[in-house]
Amino acid sequence: EMAWKRDDRICEAYFACRGAKESDVGGLADVVAGLGKALQTKGHLVEIILPKYDCMQLDQITNLKVLDVVIKSYFDGNLFSNNVWTGTVEGLPVYFIEPQHPSKFFWRAQYYGEHDDFKRYSYFSRAALELLYQSGKKIDIIHCHDWQTAFVAPLYWDIYATRGFNSARICFTCHNFEYQGTAPAPDLSYCGLDVERLDRADRMQDNAHGRINVAKGGIVYSNIVTTGGHGLQDTLKMHSRKFVGILNGIDTETWNPSTDRFLAVQYSATDLQGKAANKTFLRKQLGLNTEDTSQPLVACITRLVPQKGLHLIRHAIYKTAELGGQFVLLGSSPVPHIQREFEGVADQLQKNNNIRIILKYDEALSHCIYAASDMFIIPSMFEPCGLTQMIAMRYGSVPIVRKTGGLSDSVFDFDDEKIPVELRNGFTFARTDEQDLSSCLERAFSYYSRKPMVWKQLVQKDMQIDFGWDSPASQYEDLYQSAVAQARGVAQT
Ligand code: ADP
Repeated sequence: EMAWKRDDRICEAYFACRGAKESDVGGLADVVAGLGKALQTKGHLVEIILPKYDCMQLDQITNLKVLDVVIKSYFDGNLFSNNVWTGTVEGLPVYFIEPQHPSKFFWRAQYYGEHDDFKRYSYFSRAALELLYQSGKKIDIIHCHDWQTAFVAPLYWDIYATRGFNSARICFTCHNFEYQGTAPAPDLSYCGLDVERLDRADRMQDNAHGRINVAKGGIVYSNIVTTGGHGLQDTLKMHSRKFVGILNGIDTETWNPSTDRFLAVQYSATDLQGKAANKTFLRKQLGLNTEDTSQPLVACITRLVPQKGLHLIRHAIYKTAELGGQFVLLGSSPVPHIQREFEGVADQLQKNNNIRIILKYDEALSHCIYAASDMFIIPSMFEPCGLTQMIAMRYGSVPIVRKTGGLSDSVFDFDDEKIPVELRNGFTFARTDEQDLSSCLERAFSYYSRKPMVWKQLVQKDMQIDFGWDSPASQYEDLYQSAVAQARGVAQT
């Protein structure tokens, strides 16, 4: 019987930092911190490795210091030195790798979206593995997040395992298969991978473009793969035995209406007066009309990218106004023409005191909007998991979502008779046209205004759903455990 005990070590390799005020980092940093903390609570030793980005918020890191070792790692025919820093982020130990490479890979004033991301992250993946190798730690699980760190899987098996660094099993989680990291095949050799060996249809060759696809390499070369979709279905099917979907959790300490310091008034499911007070407060703060207290407040907090269903977000704004509600959009876009387009909408609606469009990234304001809103709209074209629907429910804002990916795994329509009553927690629509969204909004508005008691019970039910990391972390724990057990079984025979 294999014991899974305190000194078992899990290493999370990821590439962003929580608290980053950067719209395009999205929910990933929350996910890694949330999973890491939950696993730590369960008694595992979790360590995180990140690039030392110049744009990190240093005030989120305690005890940041540089170690007096220099790790040399391979890149494009040469060895480069890396400084290694350590620090603690939300109670989790983190290593930060600072390459001494002339391309200043992480000295770019932004996290990703650079022309040489493929080089930057293959460099980081190699350096992170080198750090683990040279530290001599006995590691059980290396958990890589998204394509940026998926290089680790083939590097580990092709280069490091053969050097005797082979105790670990690799878990690869792709949070968003929209981004898979492709490049011309020869680019794979920068980090020391063997192009001829890997540029094959059953290994790292992209299923459509004849390029190299790093996310595919992550699937092929990992022991465990979680969440998925988007063009790699065939590869995922081939590897379906190791493929599992696990819903993310949310950080229930950060997202807790009864202790949230950003709110005007804290509240809970048994005290919805407090929620109403937040609504009044926000409406005043944003200069929304406050005379008619029967108007529902609809909110949307999102990165403004095509994935999020931009035409439906725009439509929801107008439809809400037509139905007599109020709308608040908090969003920002890494894509200049999208940002401009929404600035146009904002200008046009400036004088409408039932609509506010706020085009920036603002964490404090996001908390106030979750608390103040009655409904929360998420019309995504696709959504690997999605956090905002869970946060909204925890704050008593009823989700109105398009039935896709993680949204359809967590939001169940209030009128759907095929779903057990106790699970029905919001409103869903299936199609991507405006009409389907409109009728869904109409149904929600109708409950809100005609059946206030039913609505109140729905709000209270949503606030009591458990969206913490404990249950997803247990699922990861089981996966890790069976991968490790399998490895040891193989080693013994
Ligand atoms: P994604 O990772 O695709 O952006 P998620 O739903 O997984 O989507 O996570 C989004 C996270 O980012 C949520 O915590 C949400 O509150 C936050 N967020 C998105 N846009 C903004 C914004 N403009 N201001 C503040 N927080 C935002």
